[in-house]
Amino acid sequence: KAKNEAANSYCYFSTDLQVEMNKRLDVGNKLRKALENNALDVHYQPKYDLRSGEMVGVESLVRLSDDEGGFISPLNFIEYAEETGLIFRLGEQVLEKSCISAKRWLDAGVPTKVAVNISAKQFTDSKLVDTVAMILEKTQLPSKYLELEVTESALIENYEYAVNQLKLIAKMKVSIALDDFGTGYSSLSYLRLFPLNVLKIDQSFVRDMLTDSQALDIVSTIIELAHSLHLQIVAEGIETAEQKNKLDELGCATGQGYLLGKPMNYESLTQLLLPSLHNNDQYV
Ligand code: C2E
Ligand code: MG
Ligand code: MG
Ligand code: MG
Repeated sequence: KAKNEAANSYCYFSTDLQVEMNKRLDVGNKLRKALENNALDVHYQPKYDLRSGEMVGVESLVRLSDDEGGFISPLNFIEYAEETGLIFRLGEQVLEKSCISAKRWLDAGVPTKVAVNISAKQFTDSKLVDTVAMILEKTQLPSKYLELEVTESALIENYEYAVNQLKLIAKMKVSIALDDFGTGYSSLSYLRLFPLNVLKIDQSFVRDMLTDSQALDIVSTIIELAHSLHLQIVAEGIETAEQKNKLDELGCATGQGYLLGKPMNYESLTQLLLPSLHNNDQYV
């Protein structure tokens, strides 16, 4: 009997594993194909000045098309891309597409800074700095319109190397944002040593700040920290007017979230920047 049960549970386990492996294979195939065809999609989420309502920039977010005309979330393929090394090509394509878009907006008279996510694995690449320089040169985007978003874990894993890389990036006048701030190690001593420009308050704190006084304390502490270190501050994941008003009251100058604007494709973001312009005339 025991033997049977063991055989059964092995069977279930094997089926689950099979499903997982098929999913992984499927995402892998789609990702490889998209990379080969330069067909990754990049969406842009606007960032706003919370007081004036003016758009102050965008964050670029990669998207992979599925078979039903929808998109697969990066949460479902970034890790895979990191494990397989595909992240380097992915990163390069997203960076290039983002810079091309920002250059078009600049040329159309609506200069807009684009922030590109860089994962921890990409940050270990000794060619990262050269790649950024090469893409800026190729797309002719002035470096002040580019920002890189890195996470605390990317910086902490290899601390001295990270400081050097960041200094080289800062020298190019590309700005640097610390993403998901508050969820990682948050060691205060390194904040002083890294050449950072922006702190992004993680969306989990914004989500909970009106119902959980600890989350609220963390949010206001991060805002004060940013002020005293002369860093710009961006709140992520603003979904309600109450959250937006509270953040404004606490002195948070800029924010992004579904309340203010969802991630959208290049054409839609361009419409937002240039409402009077018909995209088809200009860009297709
Ligand atoms: P992130 O950089 O922290 O990006 C913010 C995520 O929050 C995005 O999810 C965005 O769509 C979502 N978001 C924006 N506003 C709201 C809101 O009001 N409520 C909620 N619940 N979510 C909101 P997305 O696009 O699925 O990306 C997830 C993560 O994947 C990103 O987190 C980033 O870490 C990573 N990622 C996205 N694009 C890239 C990329 O091109 N390269 C790399 N290396 N990582 C990327
Ligand atoms: Mg980000
Ligand atoms: Mg984030
Ligand atoms: Mg995140």
